[in-house]
Amino acid sequence: MLIKMKNLTDGDISSVVEYVTINGCEAKLFKNEDNAAISVLGRGREQKLNLSELSKLPGVDKIYTKDYFLTSVNYKKTKSVFKVGDVTFGDGSLVVMAGPCAIESYEQTDAIGKALSSMGIKVMRGGAFKPRTSAYSFQGLGVDGLKIGREVADKYGMLFVTELTDSRYLSDFIEYVDIIQVGARNSQNFELLKDLGTCGKPILLKQGMSDNLDTWLSAAEYIYSRGNDRIILCERGISGADNKYYRNVMDINALLAMKQLTHLPLCMDPSHGSGRRDFIEPLSCMGVIANVDALLIEVHNCPECALCDGAQSLHLEEFQHLLNSLSIYQNARQKVRY
Ligand code: PEP
Ligand code: MN
Repeated sequence: MLIKMKNLTDGDISSVVEYVTINGCEAKLFKNEDNAAISVLGRGREQKLNLSELSKLPGVDKIYTKDYFLTSVNYKKTKSVFKVGDVTFGDGSLVVMAGPCAIESYEQTDAIGKALSSMGIKVMRGGAFKPRTSAYSFQGLGVDGLKIGREVADKYGMLFVTELTDSRYLSDFIEYVDIIQVGARNSQNFELLKDLGTCGKPILLKQGMSDNLDTWLSAAEYIYSRGNDRIILCERGISGADNKYYRNVMDINALLAMKQLTHLPLCMDPSHGSGRRDFIEPLSCMGVIANVDALLIEVHNCPECALCDGAQSLHLEEFQHLLNSLSIYQNARQKVRY
């Protein structure tokens, strides 16, 4: 449950917190220059609170027992801006995160990491736990992959973003990873989301396979309402009726709509959004025009030999070409903002 207050008055807030606590629930205060809200957790006890009594307490505006509020622009009118290391998300700049779909070996990751850092990339991606459709496909190197990613990222002064599929490995991720990615297959894994709400690391939350924009924001609310407000939302394409010519439908409408729905930074993943190497550059440029805060792009030193998603991975030279094109559109977006 979430209780939205009418005002930011300390007295009103404390009386609601006291009411909730006396009734055996845990209260957590969320406050910014626009709004105050109190989230209530109580292992089911919150469901038994007397809503009519609660709603009559001074200052109580609205009680949410479903939907989302904290991740929406109704809670926070200004954009959320946060730093991870020395990289800032949400301040109007564009963060390009790039790297292989999967970490395959130290040599492969080192070669890619070295090239990316020489192109000015500050965040390296690379999956160590790969959720694959086939049980016989490459599943990633697991914790060994995390160690490789960390070592290479440190060697070239980059941050490391990678996907967590199971809370069992959370302590390893806390040790080795800078930004924890939640993939499309897990973005409604609610126990995982709850754990990420208290893990202290920033989260890259992909739109789920069957998410609409409201359920995607509800997933983000699981994380935010537990105290973790460093969330980047990543659009990675939705399943389309026709996937003969491309893998997913890159939903640019969703990016534009989300800009109006949420204060959280937005990322576009054109690699999974299209599944096609030749689409990545034009889609990325469209993302820049749609004002995304970040891009997540698969790049490989030898896409033809990649163990995962080679067909959508850019060659290193193609990635450099993309970066050059992006700068043209970045200049344009300084002048024209939608
Ligand atoms: C990925 O980024 O490696 C990935 C598996 O993406 P998604 O969850 O969007 O399919
Ligand atoms: Mn991939």
